[in-house]
Amino acid sequence: MSAITLAAPLAGWAMPLEDVPDPAFAQGLVGDGMAIDPTVNELRAPCDGVVLSVHRARHACTIRAASGAEVLLHLGVDTVGLNGEGFTAHVRDGQPVRTGDLLLSFDMDLVGSRAHSLVSMMVVVNDGFTVDGRTVNREVAAGAPVMTVEGGTAPAAAAPAAAAGPAAGPGAGGETAERTVRLRIAHGLHARPAAALVAAAKAHPGAVTILCRGQTANAKSVVALMGLGTVANDELTVRATGPGAPGVVESLAGLIESGLGDEIVEGPPPAAATAAPAAAPAVAEEIGPPFAPGEEVLLKGTIAVPGVAVGTALRRFRAAVTVREEGRGAAEEERRLRGALDRVVAGLSDAARRMPEHAAIFQAHQELLADPELLDGALADIGAGKSAEWAWSRAARGQAEVLSRLADPRMAERAADLRDLEQQVLAALSGREPSVGLAGVPEGSIVLADEILPSDLAGVPAGRLGGICMVHGGPTSHAVILAAALGVPTVVAVGRQAERIPDGASVIVDGNRGEIRVSPPAEAMEATRGAVASRAARREENRRTAHEPCRTADGTRIEVLANLGRVSDAPGAVTEGAEGCGLLRTEFLFLERQSAPSEDEQYRQYQQIADDLGGRPLVIRTLDVGGDKPLPYLPLPKEENPVLGLRGVRVGLREPELLRAQIRAILRVRPAGVCRIMVPMIASPAELRTVRAMVDEERARLGRAEPIEVGAMIEVPAAALVADRMSIVADFLSIGTNDLTQYVLAMDRGNPHVAAQLDALHPGVLRLIRQTVAGAEVLGRTVAVCGGAASDPMAAPLLIGLGVTELSATPAVIADLKAFIRTLRIADCRRIAEMALSLDSAEDVRRLVTETWPDL
Ligand code: PEP
Ligand code: MG
Repeated sequence: MSAITLAAPLAGWAMPLEDVPDPAFAQGLVGDGMAIDPTVNELRAPCDGVVLSVHRARHACTIRAASGAEVLLHLGVDTVGLNGEGFTAHVRDGQPVRTGDLLLSFDMDLVGSRAHSLVSMMVVVNDGFTVDGRTVNREVAAGAPVMTVEGGTAPAAAAPAAAAGPAAGPGAGGETAERTVRLRIAHGLHARPAAALVAAAKAHPGAVTILCRGQTANAKSVVALMGLGTVANDELTVRATGPGAPGVVESLAGLIESGLGDEIVEGPPPAAATAAPAAAPAVAEEIGPPFAPGEEVLLKGTIAVPGVAVGTALRRFRAAVTVREEGRGAAEEERRLRGALDRVVAGLSDAARRMPEHAAIFQAHQELLADPELLDGALADIGAGKSAEWAWSRAARGQAEVLSRLADPRMAERAADLRDLEQQVLAALSGREPSVGLAGVPEGSIVLADEILPSDLAGVPAGRLGGICMVHGGPTSHAVILAAALGVPTVVAVGRQAERIPDGASVIVDGNRGEIRVSPPAEAMEATRGAVASRAARREENRRTAHEPCRTADGTRIEVLANLGRVSDAPGAVTEGAEGCGLLRTEFLFLERQSAPSEDEQYRQYQQIADDLGGRPLVIRTLDVGGDKPLPYLPLPKEENPVLGLRGVRVGLREPELLRAQIRAILRVRPAGVCRIMVPMIASPAELRTVRAMVDEERARLGRAEPIEVGAMIEVPAAALVADRMSIVADFLSIGTNDLTQYVLAMDRGNPHVAAQLDALHPGVLRLIRQTVAGAEVLGRTVAVCGGAASDPMAAPLLIGLGVTELSATPAVIADLKAFIRTLRIADCRRIAEMALSLDSAEDVRRLVTETWPDL
């Protein structure tokens, strides 16, 4: 006989099971144990052991301890009905875990508002164990010892009560009976109905098993029953052996049919995993006919990347394909579908060759297309008289639906891939080339799209695109940042009228005014071409002096560095006059791939950039994912409000190995003095202190004697307000105006409805910048700006007037920015900045700046 102590899997108020607002748990039907009303959203392992099963709805998980005790951890009451929404599993069936390992996490607001209660249970569900020594009716910390479980012996003797397979019992080999019934409860055999079935099965001395979809489970084990992953309308076969088996089978089958205490749902059997949803593919919403050739139209949107471009429209809409339902003969439709698939596969191979660093994505897409169930599903519909488009769309959506319901977030991610492939094949069927990114578009094209994604721009060479017009999108999205790096004038949030612009129409993208002019008169096209050319000439002129250090007209030194988002950007930035890199967005290394880059791979890329910068400073921002930049291989909990959730340093602190590997890669770059580490989304000095401690530890491990500067990004308003305290820990501060503006104005930077007002020149944002500078001055720390405002010439005099001495801008604007700064006098900048602080709006501030510097 041995005893194990279980640690609290959650922090919160510990309570006896009798107080749980769920009769099955309260009466001990599921097992004996305790409950906790949680104050945290992470469920951790109460002991060392192995994960027996994570429920399909990710709200419950069972661990088998070395003693053989099977411990069910069940988050909340009536949470199975959320079907996984709000829950994230961090472990898989069969995975060994140590006490304190993260098992499940959940969105407290979402689950709290939708479930009956958040009270969570920890119960021992198998026989042969007794629970003792519970700590209840008090607050407990996660990890505190709270319960003792006696029983079991050596690990080897642990009986696999939950294992699939017929359970042997005293009556094995005697009378046998079985009956198949339909399970008519909404959420399958979750904890409560499983417990009811177990209680009834245990009354029978012989073996009782349940068979479902080819799997067998011991009906006397809650875990085994839950592990079957049953859903409503599944067929269950009850099998019993031993004396009185027929009566037992009858009574258990009746119990199952009556719902085992859950409400009965009526309805047809669910679609098989391969079945597509019944609904026909949606037909595009009517937005009006395409604009007639030569029809002059002005569309208004939001400024995203300044500059003006003149060119020819190239439509790259993802969703505007109208689908004809009726086919023109099965043989013809099958031929069309197979042809389209071949073209998409060829396009993917081509893309993998052109972008070897992203090859894994394209290979994964090819694998998905090769799935026989997908093709078979489509061919079945074609055989029934449907068109290739209709059949393909239905099959792809059906598969996407199935994938999106899977508990494994990595698999659920593939649903998005399928939606993408659905569109690519539809595009190929409509006779257009299936598009993979924008790398191959004709030079100078004005690309029209619902929304450009970062991956679309991943392999695009500088100078290829003329301009971008998006139906949706916000001005500070990461795709826009890439567009800015490429110097492509971009207008976003134009609305669906942009879909009416025909392919090949003449278009002017005015990124300075946020306008799209369709088929303007020939004179306007000419005049704009002239203006674009003279601006380019001025830029050429400015580029000649761009390599000289930058000072205002009265001698104040302002450093102008570049924001970089990929390795290949560095040489071009130096050519443009960058004095170094003030923000390396390292996400480029982590996004759009199937696993995290190794420390070595990171080191090589950082070293390459440092080499390309030729000894100039390189500020490397640690990974800033989460929010709008999810990583497929880093499952984060589904958050209702991701930009206020796990982003930036919060992810790094939660996944310390990821952060430490990146820190080590940066520390290895030579010469030792060139790199600085910058940490995103810092809200308080303690976070930076933790990262600094990691840096020091890794530095010691690598035996690196030279210190390295560690700075904080000021993006969270609280960080700006405590800049004096932050400066005690930080060697430098760098203001991320994109996020700072979003958080100060409470406007989502990706939301087109508020995009027009999202302006860093709002006096509220400017006041926080002043406060940051004032706080940093106490200890003489440098304040840089690396957000979009640093690339906006109108912001430059204000930022300089507020005391910012370093601007990190998109490379394309550096030459013009330096030339403009050289014309400024610091006294004017201070005066205008002071006036701007007491204005009412960003609009007023912009008016003040243009009145003072009319040439802007
Ligand atoms: C910012 O927020 O201003 C910034 C520079 O970071 P990112 O745009 O990458 O979020
Ligand atoms: Mg940011």
